[in-house]
Amino acid sequence: MLENKNQDKTDLESLGEFGLIDHLTKHFPLNQKSTIKGIGDDAAVLDFKDKKTVVSTDLLVEGVHFDLSYMPLKHLGYKAVMVNLSDIYAMNAKATQITVSLAVSNRFPLEALEELYAGIALATKIYNVDLVGGDTTSSQTGLIISITAIGEAIAEDIVYRSGAKENDLLVVTGDLGGAYMGLQVLEREKEVYKVNPNSQPDLEPYSYIVERQLKPEARKDIFELFKKLEAHPTAMIDISDGLSSEILHLCKNSKVGCNLYEEKIPLDPTVISACEEFKIDSTLVALSGGEDYELLFTLDQKEFPKIKGNPNLTVVGHMTADNEGAHLVSRNNSKIPLTAQGWNSFAKT
Ligand SMILES: [Mg+2]
Repeated sequence: MLENKNQDKTDLESLGEFGLIDHLTKHFPLNQKSTIKGIGDDAAVLDFKDKKTVVSTDLLVEGVHFDLSYMPLKHLGYKAVMVNLSDIYAMNAKATQITVSLAVSNRFPLEALEELYAGIALATKIYNVDLVGGDTTSSQTGLIISITAIGEAIAEDIVYRSGAKENDLLVVTGDLGGAYMGLQVLEREKEVYKVNPNSQPDLEPYSYIVERQLKPEARKDIFELFKKLEAHPTAMIDISDGLSSEILHLCKNSKVGCNLYEEKIPLDPTVISACEEFKIDSTLVALSGGEDYELLFTLDQKEFPKIKGNPNLTVVGHMTADNEGAHLVSRNNSKIPLTAQGWNSFAKT
């Protein structure tokens, strides 16, 4: 898990700031028609013609958002892009460009940043977005990555958090809780490694959930699926903090309530078995775990035939009047108020 890094490494100082940016960004092609000018001037120039531009930024800080003792730098680069593209897809917009800014301490050699950029490059290639700018600077301690993602959409297509109506269906993509349980496995193996550095962790049984943590995918395919099905979500948000807090965002912004059905929450079998192993309630993991980067949206019931039977989409509840509040309807049919920090407040009797 933790490789020995004793090979010859190149000091960042030997390149200088501009040399470093040139070196890291020289192999990024520009594919978007909207990119008029990418890296190489004081600013990028973009042209979205008659479309609206959507912009989102995220900041990832070593020790707060990621732990390099089990997060390979290539995966980190990939994930940092995914986190941002996910927000663009959550607006029902097409992601088109990113900028990448780094603050990095000199404990990182050039080769480490090359790994990070290899992950960024892979993400831009698979998701077809252009890298059009950014900055690098030195940091006293760890690594800080800030990515800005830019996208385009026709005004009528943009989906806000505020459009959900009473009786709309509440729908989630994919399955939930994997990223959180993957993190539990990685944290446990890190502790084992500290005690016995010769231990070889067997992560095979956990490959799905570990991948959900280390290499999540943003749901570009869902954005494309909506177009194909001619489905029009009324409100949408991406699931970065856990289902519970995202539902509360939709309810608050749309001024509606919600009934979420515990038995409908989509869980992968490996999440269920990991929850049993770690003695954690799988519903709590889905509600509060976070980092799954799935999409949560509401849909007018009239549109249900368009999504019915789609393996990517699960109806987990419906929206209610604002004064009814937001609740989890448990398997034994009791109604429990949803809270953003679900851990203790969901203790079942
Ligand atoms: Mg978001």
